[in-house]
Amino acid sequence: MQKSEQLFARAQKHIPGGVNSPVRAFKAVGGTPPFIEKADGPYLYDADGKQYIDYVQSWGPMVLGHNNPIIRQAVIDAAQNGLSFGAPTEAEVTIADLVSELVPSMEMLRMVNSGTEATMSAIRLARGYTKRDKILKFEGCYHGHADALLVKAGSGALTFGVPSSPGIPADFAKHTLTMEYNNIDSVVQAFEQYPDDIACIIVEPVAGNMNCIPPVDGFLQGLRDVCDKYGAVLIFDEVMTGFRVALGGAQAKYNIVPDLTCLGKVIGGGMPVGAFGGKRDIMQHIAPSGPVYQAGTLSGNPVAMAAGLAALNQVKRPGLYDELSDATKTLAEGIKTIANGLGIPMSVNYAGSMFGLFFTDVERVTNYQQAINCNTEQFNHFYHGMLENGVYLAPASYEAGFVSAQHSPEIIQQTLQIAEKVLADVAKK
Ligand code: PMP
Repeated sequence: MQKSEQLFARAQKHIPGGVNSPVRAFKAVGGTPPFIEKADGPYLYDADGKQYIDYVQSWGPMVLGHNNPIIRQAVIDAAQNGLSFGAPTEAEVTIADLVSELVPSMEMLRMVNSGTEATMSAIRLARGYTKRDKILKFEGCYHGHADALLVKAGSGALTFGVPSSPGIPADFAKHTLTMEYNNIDSVVQAFEQYPDDIACIIVEPVAGNMNCIPPVDGFLQGLRDVCDKYGAVLIFDEVMTGFRVALGGAQAKYNIVPDLTCLGKVIGGGMPVGAFGGKRDIMQHIAPSGPVYQAGTLSGNPVAMAAGLAALNQVKRPGLYDELSDATKTLAEGIKTIANGLGIPMSVNYAGSMFGLFFTDVERVTNYQQAINCNTEQFNHFYHGMLENGVYLAPASYEAGFVSAQHSPEIIQQTLQIAEKVLADVAKK
């Protein structure tokens, strides 16, 4: 860790907290984050030359594994023709056609540069389309850091939004209603209270920002029904779940058709890309077809589009998502069996190639309150043991883990052996 420690100390001078995105700083688990030099297949390599089996995958994009040779070559080829034109290109048309084929609810789509831009723009569009101000989100769901979305509920079932961060005027947050995930009754009550005011529901159809919490039976259908009844727009934030829990995303896995979908992560193959899209009738309200303004100097960047296309063309391979799901189930159930065998209470959730480990005796974690009540001391102990032994997990207990196509059965078994050793140590505490 010597080099990482030196780099982290140096980083403090000109970068707030030493990082360009907060969770990378290891505040939740303590210690120094390994500075990464390169990545390949299932592995990360830090500045001190240590190898890790990686279950973070750049927070989701690398579903094919790191340094995929086809994506790498596509990026090199595109870069040879220039890095940015600020004018339309064929690659943008091709990727729009392909995304629309893989996620048929996205009849039209617009490319952006991050998940945050995708959700922010989708919300603006939903408000512009419905001419309503309020939005409804769920406690523990993260949709990027736009003002209206960085809001959590106060106490009580139905509260006006309270900003989660200084710098967001209370007036901006007051239009955001926050409900309990997987609790459809609270959503119905909100619509009964504000039948003509709620522009949209935005939801992670599998929550991946309060560890991993899949929807309970009927929850997503309930959201669809209530939006239909009150004329609100249903937005699936599939930034994490898109091309991750299934080829067609969570909407394909659970068979629910949203009005708008937000994408990010996998769609860029590792480059900074996001997208939002959906029903033609709604999307035509976006400029220049319609009056809702949205734009981007680097949107649809040719190098980023080449990476995205190379990624999407590979995830189409038949059988890929079944293999990913099987590997993820073996990993998550394997860790749970080991932990429980050692007397450590643990439950696990998984959907496609997303998983979550909960140090808790709650049999099935379905909401934020249960997720935050887990034993963080045990998690942190487990976390550092795994890291020391060459397994890189997300450095906070509220993050989902990811399995890639490069996590072979041997790598999964190796991870389980390491987990057994580390959990035996956790059990002794
Ligand atoms: N939505 C979801 C569901 C996410 O998980 C994230 C990022 N983790 C975002 C939106 C924001 O994406 P970005 O970090 O690319 O802005």
